[in-house]
Amino acid sequence: MSAQPDLTAMLADLHTLVGIESPSSDPVAVSRVMDVVEGWARDLGATTRALPGGTRSLQFGLDASGAERPLLILMHADTVWPTGTLERMPWRHDGDRLYGPGTYDMKGGIVGTVHALRALHGEWPRGGIHVLLSPDEEIGSVTSRPHIEAAAQGARAALVVEPPVADSHALKTGRKGTGGYWLTLHGIASHAGNRPADGASAITAAAEAVLAIHALARPEVGTTISAGVIHGGSAMNVIPETCTVEFDVRVSTLDEAQRVDDAVRAWAPTDTRVRTTLTGGLNRPPFEQGEATLALYARARDLARDLGFTLEHESVGGGSDGNFTAPITPTLDGLGAPGDGAHAAHEHIRLDRWPDHVRLLTRLLRTL
Ligand SMILES: [Zn+2]
Repeated sequence: MSAQPDLTAMLADLHTLVGIESPSSDPVAVSRVMDVVEGWARDLGATTRALPGGTRSLQFGLDASGAERPLLILMHADTVWPTGTLERMPWRHDGDRLYGPGTYDMKGGIVGTVHALRALHGEWPRGGIHVLLSPDEEIGSVTSRPHIEAAAQGARAALVVEPPVADSHALKTGRKGTGGYWLTLHGIASHAGNRPADGASAITAAAEAVLAIHALARPEVGTTISAGVIHGGSAMNVIPETCTVEFDVRVSTLDEAQRVDDAVRAWAPTDTRVRTTLTGGLNRPPFEQGEATLALYARARDLARDLGFTLEHESVGGGSDGNFTAPITPTLDGLGAPGDGAHAAHEHIRLDRWPDHVRLLTRLLRTL
């Protein structure tokens, strides 16, 4: 019996949030977005507070006795876009597509959630709804992770309003675990012409490391590795003293994470004069596609069918804060605004599909 979401009002709210650029690196800017969302939540009757590190807790009708556990909703206010992006990537309509930095990942998800909450008219589900709005999802959720895990411990289920799979109606029922390594090679500088044998090349060692660590990938079981950044050397005629390589690592299981971690830590260059320092590791554990998640998905699929559209689901390579909640409580991800172009210049949401997804979220909140 839910009324159609008011797309005009949703767009006005989204325009407000997109207009406040909020790169993860600028906590003051991110908190401006949070202030707006917190204001909307208060208008809906939420009890709100700021947690250490900046995450906001927005609580709707929580059971003070703690007997009934709430639904947890996860969203983030930061984006990958630096301040000034709006000038070259402005808010713009093209037919059913609405373009702009952060529209798809994930200010559309924030606005859709606020409108789904509004559509409940203060009739919160048993146990209430606990929303966490975090400031640092795009840089690994270092400050928000403890709050997310603590809230998940007490929640019936976690709903993540990251966008659905690109250009689809597919929710996310699994995600790879994500990690990164920063490997620095410390060699010995020397004149490349006069005293080459005195030098120990950090770049040669880095080249070995790239090949050896790439060889740890096992794409057939979901393990992928990419050296994404390399910095080293000082001048062409100097045997390079230092070189740093950054590796992106994705895994589908904790066993694979351990295998890769052991091997990366055990790796050593052929030239024993080159020392290594290694930082990093697994950041987000794998969100393994489990029965609890698939049961939640089945509920959503049935609700979508009643609403007249076909929902699908997929396990994806990118991580989210759902990776932290999935080992703790049943988690369903991808409940934000449909579209395409996350972290890309063509980032947009689909206005023809967005209201359906907001109605779906409203019904999930009402019936879970
Ligand atoms: Zn996101």
